[in-house]
Amino acid sequence: MSPTLITDDFATYMLVVAHPDDSEFSSAGTVARLMRAGKRVVIVQVTSGNKGSADPTADPSRVAATREAELLEATRRLGGPEVIFLRCMDGELTPDLDLRERIVRMIRTHKPDVIITHDPFRPYSLHADHRAVGMATTDAVYPTARDPLYFPEHYAEGLEPHKTAEIWYFGPEQPDKTVDITDVFDLKIHALMAHVSQIGDGEGMAERMRERAQELAKDEAFELGEAFKVVQMRR
Ligand SMILES: [Zn+2]
Repeated sequence: MSPTLITDDFATYMLVVAHPDDSEFSSAGTVARLMRAGKRVVIVQVTSGNKGSADPTADPSRVAATREAELLEATRRLGGPEVIFLRCMDGELTPDLDLRERIVRMIRTHKPDVIITHDPFRPYSLHADHRAVGMATTDAVYPTARDPLYFPEHYAEGLEPHKTAEIWYFGPEQPDKTVDITDVFDLKIHALMAHVSQIGDGEGMAERMRERAQELAKDEAFELGEAFKVVQMRR
């Protein structure tokens, strides 16, 4: 598989993820690598995970505030990518035109070269929010954000159509790009540990994540990886 290093000419990467720990579990090493390479990284956080509590008496707005703070700490540890909260309702996402419009607005605002998101085509992907974000983002990239007759109200706000070059899907069945995260693996774990409300003290997590990263890099010349399926857009 190749390429294994982030040596491309792309300048801006945008992650579009459903919940406040999705970007860390899937891509924290890649984010750290991108930040070190001087790339611009924007994380679009679709929900703030306001149902992410096992306590039936928890206040969803407080759960969301906690999780937003945890995400901001996690991203600070990764080098400080920009974070945008869309604050959609956790667990209730559908790949409808409303969600697509919100993502198109982000694409037209930040003009990413690469979008990194959930793989909505993976069989047995069990979380509806993950499927919804992956599909709405895919449909936002092509052709909606690119073509000027979609959401013409964006013009009034000064937003122009934008062509994204590539989508990288995390969690694919058959990855074709593996990013070397060996040097930043400890940073990935450090970022994940910021999500205290979700992982507690994180016992055993580093070992599990290392095993997973080793498996993803088993055909590579490096030890630890994060894997993606890359789809290139028609120009
Ligand atoms: Zn999630």
